[in-house]
Amino acid sequence: MDDKKVRVRYAPSPTGFLHIGNAQSALFNYLFARHFNGTMVLRIEDTDTKRNVKDGEASQRENLHWLGIDWDEGPNKPNPKYAPYRQSERNKQGIYHKYIQELLDKGLAYKDYSTEEELAEMRERQRANNEAPHYDGRWYGKSEEEQKAAEAKGLKPTIRFHFPKNHDYEWDDIARGHVSFNSDNLGGDFIIEKSDGMPTYNFAVVVDDHSMDITHVLRGADHISNTPKQIAIYEALGWEHPTFCHIPLIFNPKTRKKLSKRDKDTLQFISEYKKHGYLHEAIFNFIAFLGWSPVGEREIYSKDELIKVYDPNRMSK
Ligand code: GLU
Repeated sequence: MDDKKVRVRYAPSPTGFLHIGNAQSALFNYLFARHFNGTMVLRIEDTDTKRNVKDGEASQRENLHWLGIDWDEGPNKPNPKYAPYRQSERNKQGIYHKYIQELLDKGLAYKDYSTEEELAEMRERQRANNEAPHYDGRWYGKSEEEQKAAEAKGLKPTIRFHFPKNHDYEWDDIARGHVSFNSDNLGGDFIIEKSDGMPTYNFAVVVDDHSMDITHVLRGADHISNTPKQIAIYEALGWEHPTFCHIPLIFNPKTRKKLSKRDKDTLQFISEYKKHGYLHEAIFNFIAFLGWSPVGEREIYSKDELIKVYDPNRMSK
């Protein structure tokens, strides 16, 4: 570990209540921060306004508290150097658009005026040809006249990041080891700003992790395929990316598949464990062991003991 002060974040989208998978990400960030005397940040990623649920953020906070997970910075504990901590508020300050404009100016991003129907037709054709679905770059390099003509028709553009051809995005993942993706296999140029002016997750997360000085990103392995897109943005903006750690997903032992909201035989929400009378210390211990294990056979640890013995190099794959 280099001597930069550790700053980690748990960044839930308030699209539902605190799920055991989210709790696992929160918990490993917490162990990491406390073990290395770093700072734990809570950031609310609420740019997907259609999917946000009322009380989603409050449920996250309440259930994290019950589990014994606290944070040093967040919407309720702002550090003026990094605030605000909700992406919707950050967006209003123009934090994301400033960098979108920079990419547009450098020719690394462009406006796409395709309609929903055109995109659906494109995907349909790719499916029929047995091609993996991808954006075909049809608006890349279009002239100003063509853009103006689309505007005149009342079309609102999305903004896409333009991938360089045949470029490798690689990183050394704390849990997974070396990971590499090629730009040609990432689904084509991707949207960084929606037509309503909201940044997408893959863009906002980079701007925020960079501007909040995040040193380590610990999150669920379902984000592995997002990471090369995020590294592409770091490269385009000339920034260094944080160290990544993709925590293994929780599996249902019966179906041997990723735990799904439909698996009714597993308690999935932290509030359910609370309601059934489980002790928060036991749930903390249980979740920690779902992604990590200490040396030896011992299985019962207090939170403080876990903070002490936690070693990120022993994360499971
Ligand atoms: N808002 C994202 C989620 O809830 C965060 C992923 C990340 O930590 O980068 O999945």
